[in-house]
Amino acid sequence: MSDAERRRAQILESIGRAAALARRDAREVTLVAVTKTRSMAEIAPLIAAGQRDFGESRVSEALEKWPPAMASDPGLRLHCIGRLQSNKARDAVRLFDVIHSVDRMSLVAALSEEAARADRAPKVYLQVNIGEEAQKGGCAIADVPALLAAIRGSPLSLAGLMAIPPVDVEPSPFFALLAELALRHDVSGLSMGMSGDYAAAVMLGATTVRVGSALFEG
Ligand SMILES: *Cc1c(COP(=O)(O)O)cnc(C)c1O
Repeated sequence: MSDAERRRAQILESIGRAAALARRDAREVTLVAVTKTRSMAEIAPLIAAGQRDFGESRVSEALEKWPPAMASDPGLRLHCIGRLQSNKARDAVRLFDVIHSVDRMSLVAALSEEAARADRAPKVYLQVNIGEEAQKGGCAIADVPALLAAIRGSPLSLAGLMAIPPVDVEPSPFFALLAELALRHDVSGLSMGMSGDYAAAVMLGATTVRVGSALFEG
């Protein structure tokens, strides 16, 4: 068993335990392997181990790395998890199956235009600045209803809500708050949880966890 295979199996096992504790079905939870800064040589063992969902932060890096692998394996799904400039919307719509970082009207508009042009509708998560932090990506909690309405009225397909809690504080209250927002607005998907806190996120309802370092280190 490769290191990648072993780490992935351990993470899937932890997800399974967390789901069982919360009386959830672990099959509702997608593990996105975050591969920003990792080379295709590091990523290949994960693909061989059966991993299908991968997350990248930067459009340019993803464009350099992924097209050959995706051409040879049409089952791979690429997720955009980083801040997205509207002028990268065309590349993003062509490359990504899921975009987790939609957080403003201008980006909804740019992605909608490109989706219509490419006749390809990526799934999108509305990213919420759940800790209301300055300088952080994500929309204000007060803007969630209007942005959800805009996405629902667009060619984009709404996957759910995404958040990155503040660092160095207990993340669970923020996961619970995102879950509460999703419930209030009739949204089913929750992209939350990273290497240090994905088990807590799964207990609180995550349907997608984004895990990088725990898959590649240790
Ligand atoms: C890098 C990144 C992750 C993965 O973080 P790890 O702590 O390495 O698991 C998850 N989500 C986003 C948005 C990221 O930028």
